[in-house]
Amino acid sequence: MEPTLVVLLYSSLAAAVAGLGALPLLRRERVPTRWVGWANATAAGLMLGAAWALASAVDGAPLASAVGALVGVLYSAWTHRVLGTEDLELNRLSEIDAVYGYQILLVNTLHSASEGVAIGVAMAVHLPFGAFLAVAIGVHNIPEAVVLCEVLRGRGLRPGQAAGLAVATNLSQVLLSVVVFAVVGAAPAMLPGALGFAVGALIYLVLVELLPESYREAGPTTIAIVTTVVMGVVVLLRGALG
Ligand SMILES: [Zn+2]
Repeated sequence: MEPTLVVLLYSSLAAAVAGLGALPLLRRERVPTRWVGWANATAAGLMLGAAWALASAVDGAPLASAVGALVGVLYSAWTHRVLGTEDLELNRLSEIDAVYGYQILLVNTLHSASEGVAIGVAMAVHLPFGAFLAVAIGVHNIPEAVVLCEVLRGRGLRPGQAAGLAVATNLSQVLLSVVVFAVVGAAPAMLPGALGFAVGALIYLVLVELLPESYREAGPTTIAIVTTVVMGVVVLLRGALG
């Protein structure tokens, strides 16, 4: 199969499974707050595992990778600053406010875009490695969508509408994975910097968007355990699959 189609296929599947995040809402009117914390911690662990895998794929040009990581962190911080969302409480589960709903969708779209960079650059390293990363990000899209769907539910949306929006916020992931794969494929000298960018952005998003909320929702001990165990599973699987 044409490599670009492989990237498109994997990233599209990863985005599509985000719709499963609305499933808990079919069984319950609202998801318990602790579940939201655990979903955040699971997503955080998968993102940290993906960041570790990307960092371990750096082969030469450590300075370019380090500069890329710094740019990834600064870019993520800058987008929050520009959007005015740096101090936004991301998991407000009730209280209707129209602007907040749009801000949350925007934050999720940008979050997914950085993960699209991660998938695209991993695909550029080696297609099987990219497939591994796309599966890790795809699985992580589900707990992240559980959180988003619960927030949207609190704003009066039906489960089907929440599922549709969860998938829509991940379309940026598909777009960026294909674009980054094409750009890095055409200019391989960008690979170390792009790997660094993805690592920096992923770790920053975990620390700023996922973990602070989850501590409040489920307590630091369980969140630390879930996050590290899930990250450990990704590391083990990556090691086992070579
Ligand atoms: Zn994420």
